[in-house]
This record gives sequence, C-alpha cells and structure tokens, in this order.
Amino acid sequence: MTRIPLVLATRNEGKTEEIRALLADYPVEIKNLTDFGPTPTIEEDGETFEDNAVKKARFIAKILGLPALADDSGLMVEALGNGPGVRSARYAGEGATDAENNAKLLGELEDVENRNAAFACVIAIAVPWGPALIYEGRCEGAITKEPAGSEGFGYDPVFYYPPLQKTFAQLSTREKNQVSHRGQALRQLRDEFDKVLVWLRQRLVESGWQWLEE
Ligand code: IMP
Repeated sequence: MTRIPLVLATRNEGKTEEIRALLADYPVEIKNLTDFGPTPTIEEDGETFEDNAVKKARFIAKILGLPALADDSGLMVEALGNGPGVRSARYAGEGATDAENNAKLLGELEDVENRNAAFACVIAIAVPWGPALIYEGRCEGAITKEPAGSEGFGYDPVFYYPPLQKTFAQLSTREKNQVSHRGQALRQLRDEFDKVLVWLRQRLVESGWQWLEE
C-alpha cells in the first residue's frame, strides 16, 4: 500500500521519534520541518489551543502541499480564569525561561487557596485544502506552593498530580506519558489512525493525488 506522507510541524527530533514509534505499524511516512529546509515562522496568536494547532497544521500543509500534524498545549489554572492557557510559554514575558514562568505563577497564587489546574493538549491534522481533524487530551492536577522534582520541562515542577502524589517533574518520562495530556491525545490519535488514513486518502484523492489509489 502506498505510504501517505505526514509532516510534523516541528523541528524537534524527540517529538518526531515519539510519533514515528507510535505510528510505526501504519502506512505513513513521518517527516518533520527539518526535511524541508527553512519555513516561515508561524505566529501562535490563536485564542484556544485548537485555534493554534489547526493554524499551524493548515499553514504547513498549504506551504508544503502535504498533510501535516501540529500540536499545541499549555496550562490552565482555575483561579487565573484558566490562564495562562495559550500564553503558557510566554507567561512571564516573551522569551521567558521555565523558571521565570514558574516563579511568576507561584507569585500570582501566593495567597490563593484554589490551586486547581489542568494541562491540555490539542493535536490537529490538516490537508492543504479543507477541514482538519482534532484530538484532545487533558490532565487534572493542582499547583504546588513550591517547585519539586527535576524531570520534564515547563510547569512540570509545580504541577502536582494527585493520583500518583507527585509533581510531573518527579515522574519518569514513561510514567508522565501514561497520564499526561499529550500522552492521552497521542493515544487517541493512534487508536483512530485507521480512520485518519481513510480520511487522508479521501481528501488527497479529491485533490488530484490519483497515485494514492494504486
Ligand atoms: P507548546 O505546545 O510547545 O507550545 O507548549 C506551550 C507551553 O505550555 C510550554 O512552553 C510549557 O510552558 C507548557 N507546557 C505544555 N505541556 C507541558 C508539559 O507537559 N509540562 C510542562 N509544561 C507544559
């Protein structure tokens, strides 16, 4: 069966390998932006994770003329009206470090009792024309009073996961993937990938990729 190309909207080799391994049994050829040289930067200015994921996937699909997959994720804190949300990476300012973002978050919540929070992840798959497919994952937890643990990245040291009684930064990558927002969204994608391939084939044949019917 002809392998369908799918371009990940990332240059991160770790993310690429993770998705390659996840979809290893399917007739799909995973590439990432590094396979295509320079591409324009995409501004993540959407109001929701879905807006940003779809925008990135559509943009890459359009400029490369191939199906593309993009994700967007972040932290939502109840007491902050579900912020920082789509602004998670730049919460303490453009180019802020993880430590700066965490310090700002703990500062904002200093006297706040409600520590409820959730990580969310949206994965979008788009073709050069037409609609996009969406997969979502969400993981509920609470913001700690101070950072704990040294694994992971971003807000992991301040995100406490009650079922395991640890912060995400105190979990191994494997443990985190089993429960995380990204892990959930990726597993949903894998579980439905047969349907995704049918969807991609239909969209591509409609757009004139006759060779896919071979
Ligand atoms: P993006 O999806 O790579 O744009 O992630 C946006 C930001 O959300 C990251 O820079 C982190 O600050 C935060 N974030 C997303 N996922 C995680 C996670 O699994 N752990 C900690 N922080 C995360």
